[in-house]
Amino acid sequence: MSSAAKIGIVGSGFVGASAAYAMVMRGIGREIVLVDLNHKRAIAEAEDIFHAVPFAYPMNIRAGEYADLHGCRVVVITAGVNQKPGETRLQLLERNAAVFRQVVPNIVQHAPDARILVATNPVDVMTHLSARLASELGVPVQRVFGSGTTLDSARFRSLLAQALGVDAHHIHAYVLGEHGDSEVLAWSQVTISGMSLDEFCARQGISFTGEDRARIDDGVRRAAYRIIEGKGATYYGIGSALARIVDTVIRDQRSILTLCAPTAQVAGVEDVTVALPRLVGGDGILATFPQPLSDAEQDALRRSAAVVREAITSLGL
Ligand code: ADP
Repeated sequence: MSSAAKIGIVGSGFVGASAAYAMVMRGIGREIVLVDLNHKRAIAEAEDIFHAVPFAYPMNIRAGEYADLHGCRVVVITAGVNQKPGETRLQLLERNAAVFRQVVPNIVQHAPDARILVATNPVDVMTHLSARLASELGVPVQRVFGSGTTLDSARFRSLLAQALGVDAHHIHAYVLGEHGDSEVLAWSQVTISGMSLDEFCARQGISFTGEDRARIDDGVRRAAYRIIEGKGATYYGIGSALARIVDTVIRDQRSILTLCAPTAQVAGVEDVTVALPRLVGGDGILATFPQPLSDAEQDALRRSAAVVREAITSLGL
């Protein structure tokens, strides 16, 4: 599968523009189209990012209408209203659901074969809603997915890497469930060269205490709050994660990422969309891998899935 793909981004605010910029810097795709209700902003972002092209990879980037999404391999949805300081992700729900009821049918009408990657928060609920809206229009279910806890899992791995003195690429660790307060760091499933965390620490003579765990848990779970407190929004990290996910799809890389996608049953909660390790390729979600969690983690995942299911239900889905 070639990477000379056309990519659409609906919502060229901070997250959408950062995703486009990350794609340009890494040479992901050949053409990017930015669509936004605020067309002036889309034009300005496209022009600004286009000026980075001579310093990166040959690509075309422009603002467009929904009709310009025709032929896109992937369309990323970053449209929506912003999380205010102190506002939980779930409180964004109603405001963003209204946006999505407009956006998703427009995308499907003009790019019926596109994979749809949702990033707007609360991302699990927005992805569930998008999948429902798209499937009613005939889009196969595996083609709609959300960024889930991709960023949280990356952060978990990098904090473990710091603590253990091992390159994060060689640490497997997943954050599961809601992308938000109830997310579950799957400590029991952490592996380093096939060893559990405890085995690795014993072998390396590393003291890894409950306090260390609590520090890493807080570092992952509360990262967005800290950043929003300091600068009002988060976008570089999520923008880079979106570029990585798009790359996985357009190159059919078969990466295992903690994306969120509609799932028949998660820890006993039915018809819900949360993050689990999923095999991701050209056609979207190719497989989902439930984890053999500890009892406490399984309980936490059930609670997390229930939080998301409740929000989905509140939308009448
Ligand atoms: P974030 O930090 O999440 O990127 P922003 O507010 O910077 O938040 O960007 C969200 C973008 O979504 C804005 O540019 C806004 O104009 C856009 N947007 C909002 N509603 C719609 C819609 N119905 N269709 C397309 N774009 C929209």
